Order: sequence, then structure tokens, then C-alpha cells
Amino acid sequence: WIEYHIRKCDVIIPLVAIATPNVYVKDPLKVFQLDFEANLKIIKWVAKYHKRIIFPSTREVYGMSPEKIFNEYTTTLVVGPVHKSRWIYSCSKQLLDRVIIAYGEQGDLDYTLFRPFNWIGPKLDSLEQAQLGNGRVLPIFIHNLLHNKDLILVGGGEQTRCLTWIDEGIAALVNIIYNEKDELNGKIFNIGSPGNNLSIKKLAQLLIDEYDKLFPNKYKGKLITKSQKEFYGKGYEDIPVRVPDIQEAERLLNWSP
Ligand code: UDP
Repeated sequence: WIEYHIRKCDVIIPLVAIATPNVYVKDPLKVFQLDFEANLKIIKWVAKYHKRIIFPSTREVYGMSPEKIFNEYTTTLVVGPVHKSRWIYSCSKQLLDRVIIAYGEQGDLDYTLFRPFNWIGPKLDSLEQAQLGNGRVLPIFIHNLLHNKDLILVGGGEQTRCLTWIDEGIAALVNIIYNEKDELNGKIFNIGSPGNNLSIKKLAQLLIDEYDKLFPNKYKGKLITKSQKEFYGKGYEDIPVRVPDIQEAERLLNWSP
């Protein structure tokens, strides 16, 4: 069924993947089976029928790279040891990126890779997911605010993220899809907001302040710290800083966040 549709399509964008750190740690094989194995099949069909693929790579591929700003073409990718299963997502995506690029260089497909940097917006995670500590940081914090629970800063909360509003991310993706100048083949794009670089601690405080403006004195929780191991388990390692270089997106997609 999927092969049939790939044969009929001009552009294939395989968006299905588990992208939740908690699951990388708790169920790494599920991540491998869906994110890697299922997507590899699709990539092979795209190559077989010589189609164009727009593939969601990930900011996770840069891992714990010590570079201050992550560039698509020059940054060295750094992941932790194999027992730290958090990296199975990063490695799965990195290998798929490499497979796509190899097929592209062989002339079997056209490709553009894009790497979302902490896109946020409605439906990022359900609040039920967040309740189980299973979602991304923003829905978890929102859930905890609404339920008067403490906000947990993993490892102290000094790590930073560049949250990116979903509509802006989608605007970049739409530009990639239209590819009007046909010059996006073989390109990789970081899609994120470097100007939003914010520590998780500051994010938590910002949310509490905003909530307090809406519902004065209602929130009774506080900020507490848990270690990475306590919050995620032994297979986790955090990423201290993660700032995208978006010059390529600004130049070729005529886009800025
Ligand atoms: N985090 C946190 N408290 C939470 C959930 C997450 O401090 O309740 C931290 C997490 O350790 C990470 C950051 O928030 O450093 C962003 O986590 P998220 O899962 O949203 O995305 P990612 O780590 O993939 O950027």
C-alpha cells in the first residue's frame, strides 16, 4: 500500500517517528523499529522510483557537540556510549540521513533534509502524556502548572533550548516543499529560533509568571531539581546547549523565525 502511493507521489515526507526522550530511554527498540526500520523501507522505495524525499532529520543528530552553534555541514556529531539508550534516536536518524545522502549521490533520489529545533505549539503532546512525564518539557510544565504540581528542573535547569513556534517551522517546511528554484536538492536545513535561546530554569519561571498574571496566587507549586537519572533513568544523557545556525535557511528559503 505504501509502495503503491510512493510510486504515485512526486514528493514524499515521512513524518512518522517517536521523538520523545523518555521513550528513547524506556523503549529503545520501539524507537529503532519505527524511526529507523519503517523509515528505511520508505527511503528504499523512494530510491527505487527515483522520487523526491523531504526527510525530517533532527537536532538530536548534533548530540552533545561542543560547538556553540550547530551547522548542517560542518558540525561534528557527538553521542554518548552505547548503554545510554537516549542516543538510539539520534543514531537512527543520523544513519538514515547518511543513507539518503548516499542514494542521492548515486542519483537514485532527490532529497532535502530538515532539522526542527524544539518546535512548540498545540498538540505537541497530550496532557495525559505529559502527566506521565512522557512528553516534552513545555507540555509537562503546563500540565504541572494546571495541576498545582512542582516543576522539575532536570539537572538544575541550566541547559538551554531554542523553542520555535510551530507556524514558523511549518512556513519553512512549506518553502522546502515548493522548492520553486529547484536548488534545494542535496541541502540540509536547521529550522529553529537561535534568538530564543533560553535556559529551562528561565522557561519555568517565565511560565509561572505568565500563569500568575492570568490566575493571581493560584499556583502553589515550586521549582525543584532532580538528577537526570531520577527523572529519566540510567539510559539518559542531557544536551547542555543547542543553538541552530540558520543562515542556510535564511538564504535559500528566504525565511527567518
Ligand atoms: N526537562 C526538565 N523538566 C521536565 C522535562 C524536561 O527540566 O519536566 C528538560 C530536559 O532534561 C531537557 C529539556 O528540558 O534538558 C528539554 O526537554 P525536551 O524533552 O522538551 O526536549 P529535548 O531534550 O529533546 O530538547
